[in-house]
Amino acid sequence: MKLFEHEAKAIFRSVGIPTPNGILIHSPEEAAGAYSKVDSNQVVLKTQVLVGGRGKAGGVVFASSGDEAMRLSQKLFSMKIKGEAVHSVLMEPKLDIRRELYLGVTYDKSKRSPVVVASSSGGVEIEEVAKTSPSSIVKQWVDSYTGFPAFMGRKLAAQLGLGGTLLQDFGQISSRLYTLFEAFDADLIETNPLAITGDGRLVAADARLNVADDALYRHSDLAKSERDRLASASTLEARAHEMGVQYVELEGDIGIIGNGAGLTMATLDLVNHFGGRPANFLDAGGGSSTESFLKALTILNDNPKVKVIFVNILAGITRCDDVANAIVTAQRTLNTSKKFVIRLAGTNEEEGKMILKQHSFNAYSDMEEAARRAVVLAGGAE
Ligand code: GDP
Ligand code: MN
Repeated sequence: MKLFEHEAKAIFRSVGIPTPNGILIHSPEEAAGAYSKVDSNQVVLKTQVLVGGRGKAGGVVFASSGDEAMRLSQKLFSMKIKGEAVHSVLMEPKLDIRRELYLGVTYDKSKRSPVVVASSSGGVEIEEVAKTSPSSIVKQWVDSYTGFPAFMGRKLAAQLGLGGTLLQDFGQISSRLYTLFEAFDADLIETNPLAITGDGRLVAADARLNVADDALYRHSDLAKSERDRLASASTLEARAHEMGVQYVELEGDIGIIGNGAGLTMATLDLVNHFGGRPANFLDAGGGSSTESFLKALTILNDNPKVKVIFVNILAGITRCDDVANAIVTAQRTLNTSKKFVIRLAGTNEEEGKMILKQHSFNAYSDMEEAARRAVVLAGGAE
């Protein structure tokens, strides 16, 4: 679960990581009032959405009067940032930023270890920095028994070329960030930029905290607000989430259902490879029943962009006849005009294909053949 910047910043503040003191507004009308309360003539207005790269998308702007703040807020509240609607805006005193650093903690899965990552080229997405100036990135893997005391952070700071109080503060901030990473069962915690201000302070100008979904039961207070959060996701994504279906919407027109994340990713790749454009990622899961497949089909059917529904099943625990029954029921009850391409292999394959045949569906055994067909039916290249 991703937290909003203002939520993450409140958590940062609770452990003494310096962040600007902001005010959250929920409509443009609140902007002028908020401006008069912020302790600065220059303010920054930041859209609160759960996607990154707001700055580039025009979702971070500056104002120097109440009127201007209100005018700009009107724009911000009507924006969609990478498809996400804006429900709130954070107004903060504008920092005098001299340099932008990056500081984050995540898991290095190949090393099975948390890793603290820092860079002297902050402000840009760290993946981008890794490509363009990898030498500016420094890392420290963490033994979770010893944790990340401030002296280890000071070592990183020295590698970034920091000295004096900046080095001291960096040590403290990174150690506290690591403490939060553990305490919140985070997948990722970062501040980008960690700003060096004109008066020589370190301030977390941006904040990101993603809590591992599997650990949410340990953070019931956060889980409660999950529903509000979903309201800002696309409605289909929200519905899928409530149904317990792994669904991510994409730009294309070929709706994809696979069972298992690996197979589903491979299906997306294959469709791309043949010149088609996937409309989504949807993993129907391992032991999916007729009901859960029906739910998955309903979601794809409700996406107006989808022309073709490509069902790719490699059945183990899943049974092909369950899947076939779901497809037949979906076609009958959803009254759908979408075209189907179905690939079935594995447990009860023959039974599944028989059911489909009785209802005039063709079923493929070969995944590549099926992917080509889906692309052709969607009118894409082949
Ligand atoms: P993101 O694009 O979603 O990562 O949003 P950020 O909060 O990181 O803001 C994007 C960029 O706006 C930052 O990298 C800064 O360059 C700039 N920015 C944000 N807040 C301030 C501020 O208070 N003062 C100044 N000078 N620049 C800011
Ligand atoms: Mn940022």
